[in-house]
Amino acid sequence: MISHAEENYLKAIFKISEKEAKAASTNAIAAELQTTAASVTDMLKRLAEKNLIAYEKYRGVELSGEGNRLATALIRKHRLWEVFLVEKLGFAWDEVHDLAEQLEHVQGDDLVDRLDNFLGHPKFDPHGDPIPDAQGRWAFRPQSLLATLKPGDRGVVTGVDDHSAAFLQYLDQLGLTLGAQLELIERIPYDQSLRIRTQDGREITLSEKVGHNLFVKI
Ligand SMILES: [Zn+2]
Repeated sequence: MISHAEENYLKAIFKISEKEAKAASTNAIAAELQTTAASVTDMLKRLAEKNLIAYEKYRGVELSGEGNRLATALIRKHRLWEVFLVEKLGFAWDEVHDLAEQLEHVQGDDLVDRLDNFLGHPKFDPHGDPIPDAQGRWAFRPQSLLATLKPGDRGVVTGVDDHSAAFLQYLDQLGLTLGAQLELIERIPYDQSLRIRTQDGREITLSEKVGHNLFVKI
């Protein structure tokens, strides 16, 4: 059996390694979990004893095969619960992450598979993040950050890199939720802000920061 805290570490290590494409450092894990480097070190020892991670002092931490399998299963549960909360219970996309953080730890033999069946095997969660299947395979979808588009490019919003409620609510206000179409009109050379046209013909200016946190499929 592994504890909820251990599960959260596995997930954090998975996310950091994925994002930075290298082993996770103690400091990065501490920042991700908002805890101290000392408590991270303690936990890493425990996870290494259980053969869930490989830990090399200067290289950082990598998940073992089993650690990777557990982290993937957790992310699968988390994202399926998010789909359930949004599609079946009517929550908004900025409201579901904290609930899913709790629900992902619920154990039950075929609970997740039944949930997956019930939802019709969704491949992406309400934030556009891929949901691994029961075998741990990830769907891949080509997408680009809005900031990398060229003037005249048209795209459809497919996901976010910033999952904060503040950002998601701002996107709601702008009408830039998943599936929304847009066209980049120009990038302002002064501050790299982006002028776009929405599908209903509105012209809006977005900050460079928004451009680096919004994924679109051209
Ligand atoms: Zn989430």
